[in-house]
Amino acid sequence: MSLYLKYRPRDFDNLVGQAFIKDTLKTAIKQDKLVGAYLFCWPRGTGKTSTARLLAKTINCLQPKEGNPCLECDICTQFQEERLVDIIEIDAASHTGVDNIREIIERAQFAPTKTKYKVYIIDEVHMLSKGAFNALLKILEEPPKHVKFILATTETHKVPETIISRCQRYDFKSISDTDIKERLQFIAKKEEITIDEPSLQYITKHSGGALRNAINLFEQLIIDNEISYTNIEANLGLLQEDFLASIYKKLQTKDASVIEDIESSIKNGANLKLFLKDLIWYIKDSILGEVKNWKATKENISLLETLHETAGKMKTYHDEEMTLIIGILKIISEEGRGEVIPTVPTSHTQPKPKPEITIKKEPKEIATLSSGDIQDIFEIETSAATPISENTSTWTFDTDTWITALKKLGAKAGLTMSLRSASISTDEVHVIIQCKTGFAKTSIDTEENRLLLTSSLESIGLSHLSIKIQ
Ligand SMILES: [Zn+2]
Repeated sequence: MSLYLKYRPRDFDNLVGQAFIKDTLKTAIKQDKLVGAYLFCWPRGTGKTSTARLLAKTINCLQPKEGNPCLECDICTQFQEERLVDIIEIDAASHTGVDNIREIIERAQFAPTKTKYKVYIIDEVHMLSKGAFNALLKILEEPPKHVKFILATTETHKVPETIISRCQRYDFKSISDTDIKERLQFIAKKEEITIDEPSLQYITKHSGGALRNAINLFEQLIIDNEISYTNIEANLGLLQEDFLASIYKKLQTKDASVIEDIESSIKNGANLKLFLKDLIWYIKDSILGEVKNWKATKENISLLETLHETAGKMKTYHDEEMTLIIGILKIISEEGRGEVIPTVPTSHTQPKPKPEITIKKEPKEIATLSSGDIQDIFEIETSAATPISENTSTWTFDTDTWITALKKLGAKAGLTMSLRSASISTDEVHVIIQCKTGFAKTSIDTEENRLLLTSSLESIGLSHLSIKIQ
């Protein structure tokens, strides 16, 4: 179970931030002044779903205490074990347009079987299909007393006004740095993980006010029960400001050696998502400075836009490395629309002529991309005579590349070290891990590790191989 789920608050007092919302809901529960529908709006990872679940639990708790659930009664226990059929959670983002959501909502008319209230928690409600919205509206017009709807959305403007007007609306806010830090320190203590101040600051800065992001990043950075900033820099290749400045300058001047810089960071085990995020923040700050001095250029803004799109794609595509390289290639192959103004004060570099760009990837990796990616590659005007073949049967296996991919997926140091000490070979369809001791075999051969090992093979385009541990 992820740390975020493990540390989901069990009562309102443990909910991080959102003090006003928390107090209002607790008072409403104490005074039994509940409404039929609630709408929780705005940023991701700020506690909307957690609050919705707490509300559902507390209004059904058999002996609530001061607006909090008792955590002991039958209902609280069954809720915790997710056994309550009358609390219905729907993620509209993953079920949009599916007819049975409409039917599920229509069934709200029937009384609950066990609890006082039947509660519908609909996450990302703006994604509901038209039919589902109509069914919802029909019930909200005359809500049965036994039904409560808790709707959550990150895009309120996409929710029909007719629905919004029938809900009590709560606008969630980004969580403050202090609250995020406190929560991380609390989790660190419980999990017996030591974390230093610069790491805490780093995680807080990168969380964008979303506790979920902060906890996920925290979890990703743990190495042997420790998070230290020295480790973050060394093991994940997080990058210093002067390096980011040099990358930005190369992107502006369309200097193709930027690809080599990034590839060498990849070899050193850089976490590409973090790298790109850092780079985007750095460029954003620089551009904001340029705007103040009337120096911002369209090129710099469009460069930032391309990087931002690339970061979005990296969230869904398996091959982070390729996605990043494609994004960078797009930038350095774009025709300039005017003079590029160097923004780094010490820079006297003139824009270089448009470079010849070579895509260095092996065909096998390209074959794992979606057709959209391949189209992206063709859209880049490059001189690359890259052979793009979709049915190549040649592949090579490189342990270092594999281990880098594993690290990127969050493999713990213990696993990568065990792999290094095992002997690794391949046949047509397997990667064979020959362990030296029985202990090594048991420590590698866990369900979680197998999943990681398989995903890492997929991420380097070798999904046809399966893992054999001996
Ligand atoms: Zn209870």
